[in-house]
Amino acid sequence: MNKIRLFVDHTLGEAQSVPLNKDQAHYIFSVMRKSVGETISIFDGNNGEWEASIEEISKKSGVLFCIKQTKPQIMPPDLWLFFCPLKKVRTDFIVEKATELGVARIIPVQTEHTNVDRIKLSRLSAHAIEAAEQCGGTYIPKIEELQKIKEVLENFPPNRRLLFCDEKLQASEVNLENLKKGKWAILVGPEGGFSEVERNHLKGLKFTFSISLGPRILRADTAAVTAISLWQNYLGDW
Ligand code: SAH
Repeated sequence: MNKIRLFVDHTLGEAQSVPLNKDQAHYIFSVMRKSVGETISIFDGNNGEWEASIEEISKKSGVLFCIKQTKPQIMPPDLWLFFCPLKKVRTDFIVEKATELGVARIIPVQTEHTNVDRIKLSRLSAHAIEAAEQCGGTYIPKIEELQKIKEVLENFPPNRRLLFCDEKLQASEVNLENLKKGKWAILVGPEGGFSEVERNHLKGLKFTFSISLGPRILRADTAAVTAISLWQNYLGDW
C-alpha cells in the first residue's frame, strides 16, 4: 500500500515535533489505522518532504516526529494562472490540475462573461493541498481571492508577461518556441469567451502575447490544462 503523504501547516526540520489537527488524526488513526511507531511522509510547502514517526495518535489528536528529509523542496516555475471561475466541480478540476502540472499562483478573475461572482477559497485550497499530497509535489500554489480583470491588468507587475489564450486566433499563429523564459502568467477566459472590448484591450497591452490552443474551441478547464502543459513544455521545468 502507498505510504501516507500529508501536508502539515507546521514548519518542518530535523527532530521537529508536529502536532496533528483533528482531521489529520482521524485520517491517520481511524481511516488508515496507523499506530504509534509507524512512519508517514509529510511536507509543509517550504522545507521538502520528511519521513515522520507517529509519536502519539488518537481519534482526535496526535503528534509526529520528523526523522529525516526524504525529498528537497522543489519550487514550481514562476508561472501564474488567471482563470474565470466555472461551476464548482470544473473550478476544482482547474485548481487540482494546475497544482499537478506546476504553477506558483492561481488567481480567479472576473471578466464580462464570467457568471460566477464568488469563490470559496478554503474549498479551492483544500483541492490544491490534496493534489500536492497525491502527486508528490512539495509546493502548494497560492490561491488568491477573486479579482476583476480590469484591476488585474491595471496592476500587472512590470517584469511579468501574459500568455493570452484567445479562442478567436488562428491555430497557425501559435509559436511559443521563440518566447523568452522567465516570469509568466496564463489567462484563460470563461465559458462565454472574451468580449470584443476585452480582446482588443488585451491585444493592445505591451506585456501580452496571444496564443491559439488549436483549431477547436476547448472548454475553459481543458484550455487551462492545455495552456499550462504547452507553457511547461517550452518555457517551464518539464
Ligand atoms: N464561448 C467561446 C469559447 C470560450 S472557451 C466561443 O464560442 O468562442 C473558454 C476559454 O478557453 C477561452 O476564452 C480561451 O481563453 C480558452 N480557449 C478555448 N479554446 C481555445 C483555442 N482554440 N485557442 C485559444 N484559447 C482557447
